Parts: sequence; structure tokens; C-alpha cells
Amino acid sequence: RDVSPKPTEKAGTITRDVWFTERDENIALSLKHSGSQLYKKDSPYQRVEVYETLAYGNMLTLDGMVMCTQKDEYVYHEMITHVPMFSNPTAKRALVIGGGDGGTVRELLRYEQLEEVTLVEIDELVIEACKLHLPETAVAFDNPRLNLLVEDGIKYIKDCADEQYDLIIIDSADPVGPGEGLFTASFYQEVYRCLTKDGVMITQSESPRFNSGVFVEIYDTYKQIFGSEKVHCYLAAIPTYPTGTWSFSYSSKGEAHPLRYDREAAARFSQTHGLKYYNEDIHMAAFALPNFVRELLNSK
Ligand code: SAM
Repeated sequence: RDVSPKPTEKAGTITRDVWFTERDENIALSLKHSGSQLYKKDSPYQRVEVYETLAYGNMLTLDGMVMCTQKDEYVYHEMITHVPMFSNPTAKRALVIGGGDGGTVRELLRYEQLEEVTLVEIDELVIEACKLHLPETAVAFDNPRLNLLVEDGIKYIKDCADEQYDLIIIDSADPVGPGEGLFTASFYQEVYRCLTKDGVMITQSESPRFNSGVFVEIYDTYKQIFGSEKVHCYLAAIPTYPTGTWSFSYSSKGEAHPLRYDREAAARFSQTHGLKYYNEDIHMAAFALPNFVRELLNSK
């Protein structure tokens, strides 16, 4: 990452020109920030940092990769949550693995019908950093319906009894570092076992343009476990993730289907809660896939 300050002279004043850059082999995303890093600690798992960016507010990064920013986190968190909740409206118990920024549980806890929401995050520093610097995302950590566990989600799911959860959301980072094991077939097998008979698994499934290799592999794995008719891909536009096109997967163990949902209820919910991205039309539109994504999904 290139975070070195580059002072530039403008009309007689010195403006600090400081950029955070997330680099991959061939592309990079840069965001200008204030220069002072708000948070920087190394946990046993990763480097946890928060920058104050000028365009997107405070931004959480893990090992130099953007996880969420104050100004666009709602896209990811609303889409990973409301799509499954509206097509599985009788869900009572939900589990989130990863997601220590708190955004996914914030959205889940809007549903009174959920009796319990369990969040299993491996790294307490992620929770600490977000409580301090992304308070709107970390707003639900004190909710009495939240069961917050700081432990390894892979172990948690291995030890979990059969058919415990109506909804399991894998809110992971990329398949490197501590999150690597959250992308393996054996992990998804365990998730399948822990779902109730009509349960749904949602994962963030990377960018089909940027990470097409991983994208193809993970969908192939989901199809082998859930059956190809039961696995669906949907997309959302997230400006601070590589390429801006991001995907989520919806896999159902039973009869739940992502496009069987109550449009009127979704519209009411979106308005009542002041959601910024999800609504009854976005729910359906997110499943309309460009041809290159269809081809990737059919390529294996
Ligand atoms: N929405 C974002 C994205 O896709 O970039 C961010 C997700 S980030 C909050 C994912 C979280 O998963 C991190 O906080 C990380 O510490 C956590 N994590 C990684 N491996 C884990 C594991 N084995 N068990 C539980 N949580 C894990």
C-alpha cells in the first residue's frame, strides 16, 4: 500500500495529498484520506486499520484490503440480509460467521421475528475498531437478542448440532488469511448440516470480474452440496470493492426460493426502516445476471 504523504503546494498553501491504495497484481483502488490513521493494531490474525477517507468516511481495512466504509457499507449489509429474510420470512434463528464490523447483525436485528441472532467473529480487534470508528455499523452489539461470540467460526460450525439455524450468513473477507477456511467444501458441508430443513445459506461470493476463478470454484462447490437448482447468484454495486461489481450466493436446503417474496412487505419494510439500497425492485433486479456472469456459472 502506498500511504506515504506527498505534500503538494496549491495557491500558496500546503495540502497533504495522502492516499490509501489497495493493490492487486494488475489493478488498484485508491482513496484519499486525512493523513492521520485512526486505528492500527496487529491481532494474531491480521492487521486491523481504520482510515478517515475524504470520499467515503471512515474505512476499515484488514491486511490492507478494504472491508467497509461508512458511506457505502449499507449496500453490502442490506443485500446480504434482506434478500434471504424476505424469501424465508418464518426464520427464527440466524447465525453470522465473520461480520465483526456489525453491519449484518444490525440489519438482521431489525426483524422482531428473529428470536436469536448469533455472531461468530474470530478477531476482537475488528469489533473494537468498528465500535470506536464505525459506530453506525457497530450499533447493534449491545442488543439483548444478539449472542456475540469471539471465536473461530470453522470450529463453531463443526461443533454445532444438526438443523439449528434457519439462516446462516457467511460474512467473510477474501479467501486469504484467517478467512481461507471459510471457502472450503468441508466448511460448507458443515453449514448445510446445521441448517434447518428449509434453511438458507448466504455468502459473499467475491467479484465475478475480479475474482472469476474463485467465483467459479465456489459456485461449483455450493451446487455439489445443495444441488444446482438450489443455488442462485445475485449482484450489487459496491464502489469500494474491486471492480465495483460484487456477488452474493443464495443456497436453500429446502423449498425457499429467492424470488418468492412479498413485494409489498419488502417495500413497506424498506421505507419504514429508511433503507438506502434494498427495496422490492432491487430484490428482483439483483438476480438479473449479465451474460459473462451466466457463462462463468455454467462453465464447470
Ligand atoms: N463485508 C466485508 C467484505 O466482504 O469485505 C467484510 C467482511 S469482514 C468484517 C470479515 C470478517 O471475518 C473479519 O472481521 C474477519 O476477522 C472474520 N473472520 C475471518 N476468518 C474467520 C473465522 N475463521 N471465523 C470467524 N470470523 C472470521
